[in-house]
Amino acid sequence: MNFGNTSDQELMLQSVRSLLDDVCSMNYATKCDNDRTPPREAFNAMAQNGWLGLIAPESFGGSGGSPTDLALVLEETGHHFEELGLWLFRSFTYGCYAILQHGTEEQKQRIVPGAANGKLSFAFALSEPDSGSDAASLRTRAVIDGDYFIVNGRKQWTSGMDIADYVLVALRTNDLGKKQLGISTLMIDTKLPGIEVRKIATLGQHAIGTTEVTFTDVRVPRTALLGQLDHGWAVCEDTLRYERLCLSAVRIGAARQAFEYALDYAKTRQQFGKPIGSFQVTQHKFADMKVMLDTSFTMVRRYAWLMENGKAERADTAVIKYYIAESYKTISDMCLQILGGYGYSMEYPMQRFFRDSRLATIGGGTSEIQKNIIASTLGL
Ligand SMILES: Cc1cc2nc3c(=O)[nH]c(=O)nc-3n(C[C@H](O)[C@H](O)[C@H](O)COP(=O)(O)OP(=O)(O)OC[C@H]3O[C@@H](n4cnc5c(N)ncnc54)[C@H](O)[C@@H]3O)c2cc1C
Repeated sequence: MNFGNTSDQELMLQSVRSLLDDVCSMNYATKCDNDRTPPREAFNAMAQNGWLGLIAPESFGGSGGSPTDLALVLEETGHHFEELGLWLFRSFTYGCYAILQHGTEEQKQRIVPGAANGKLSFAFALSEPDSGSDAASLRTRAVIDGDYFIVNGRKQWTSGMDIADYVLVALRTNDLGKKQLGISTLMIDTKLPGIEVRKIATLGQHAIGTTEVTFTDVRVPRTALLGQLDHGWAVCEDTLRYERLCLSAVRIGAARQAFEYALDYAKTRQQFGKPIGSFQVTQHKFADMKVMLDTSFTMVRRYAWLMENGKAERADTAVIKYYIAESYKTISDMCLQILGGYGYSMEYPMQRFFRDSRLATIGGGTSEIQKNIIASTLGL
């Protein structure tokens, strides 16, 4: 395992960093958050420069990048704006990875090129009002009617649905005793009649955020089925594994940006005649954060390597998801404290990291659930 970047990866990083410096400044991210508008200009610029095709094979218009390449690009994107990174990750995970792993040839041809050139956007609807951590107890249902599924039910927290072209929906197609059986996954066109989307007001993630989605007698063509009928839970689990690598990479980047902002501040803000960074208590906060950032970075690199070598286990995913989410939450809290009143002010950017990071330990599986997964492998 190699912790250094190859020369190609260095070039890739320089290129994506320089593009993001141009199209996604901190002021731009602040404006998107304040105005509650998606970072569309930055997303389009990433697409035009080929970054949405990072993991798609060349035959689908992509560049066939590895999980390590993916982690590097998402970390750099998260370092500029977490919500831009999250938008990208949905394209990589649902529009490319899920289809490439579980889709038919027709689905690959129809969807992957659009994901890879950024013309299509994606969302994932697993959670429901009454099933969050216990996701397999979902109740949204699809009934087969000739060449169609008729879908009825309600999904909660479907992030990015209002800007998505396709949504990967986990729903019940059969009752087979065990709750994980009888679930199927459909890649549904979001414009179909009978789909209603309502934005949910949340503490953070104001630029794109999340929604509630209601399906009322939605006629979905059978060609939307991803994976095997009644065996969609395997698709969900596999997709969540990939999702957790992406989320972790984006959030290391965001944590690093909060850290760097607070570091600059601590070097210049004077109290009692000296920079606040000269107080040992402040220095120790930075030392603790540096350890968390370095550990997070190393963990993601190792996990990407495990993925590349087909060795990643469910518990490995839970370890990085848990540690990096908790570190990001702690780092953004410490950075806010270092900025004092300016950290708390809505007129300065640090509060955005504090608000956005609060989701990290909840979305994509809570920290408690990750600990359950880790502990379940220890033979206790
Ligand atoms: C802003 C936002 C965006 C989201 N985006 C998406 C999305 O795009 N797609 C999607 O499908 N979902 C999404 N989610 C849903 C997210 O994955 C769930 O919120 C999460 O899985 C927790 O489910 P819940 O909120 O229903 O909490 P619950 O499952 O009700 O849990 C409540 C509390 O109980 C704890 N708990 C529950 N069960 C156990 C247990 N067995 N052991 C220990 N503790 C337990 C939890 O850890 C938590 O602290 C999003 C959520 C938010 C808030």
